[in-house]
Amino acid sequence: MNARSYKLQLLGELYSPYQGCTGCHFKMPKATQIVLGTGNPEADLILVGEAPGRDEDLQGKPFVGRSGKLLDKIFDAIGISRDDIFITNIVKIRPPNNRRPFPREIEISKSILLGQIKIIRPRIICTLGSAALEGLLGEPVKISRLRGRPISWNGLTIIPTFHPAYILRNPKELETLMGDIQRAVELSREAP
Ligand code: URA
Repeated sequence: MNARSYKLQLLGELYSPYQGCTGCHFKMPKATQIVLGTGNPEADLILVGEAPGRDEDLQGKPFVGRSGKLLDKIFDAIGISRDDIFITNIVKIRPPNNRRPFPREIEISKSILLGQIKIIRPRIICTLGSAALEGLLGEPVKISRLRGRPISWNGLTIIPTFHPAYILRNPKELETLMGDIQRAVELSREAP
C-alpha cells in the first residue's frame, strides 16, 4: 500500500465514528451533515477555516459558498489547485445561522482536526480567521495583530491570516489574504 492510500485509510478510520453524524456527537444543534475536509491526504499545507456555512452543510464539503469562491480565485491567481492542499475547518458541524462557534463546540470538534493533522503531517497550517487560530492555540487572539506572522506550534508552523468572509466585507485587504496564502504555499514547499 502506498503512502497516499495508507493515509486515506487512516482518515477513513478517524472519520468512521462520525459517519451519519448531524451534530449530536459534538453536542451541537442539528445540521444536515458533518463536513470533514477535502483535498490531498499527503498535503504539506492544510487550510483551516471556522465552521461550515449553509452551502457547506448542504454539500458536505468545506468552502464551497461565497468564501470558497473567493479562495478559488486566490488559488487560481497563485497557481495552486484544491487537490494540492487539504482544506477543513476547526468545527465540523454548521452552527445555526452561521453564528460563531462556542468555545466548547470548538473544543469538542477540535479532536478531529488534531487527528487529521497527525495523519496528514503537513509542514504548514494556514488558519483563516480568529476562531481556527484560537482553537489551535487554546487562547484568545487578535488576528489583525498576528496575521502573516509564523507561529511555531507542535513541530510545525502556523501562518494565521484573515477569514475570506472578512475580505468579502473589506475587499481592500484582498492582497493581504492572497499574500499570506501564497507565503504559506511557498513555506510548505521549502526544503526541510
Ligand atoms: N466558512 C468557513 O469558515 N468554513 C467553510 O467551510 C465555509 C465558510
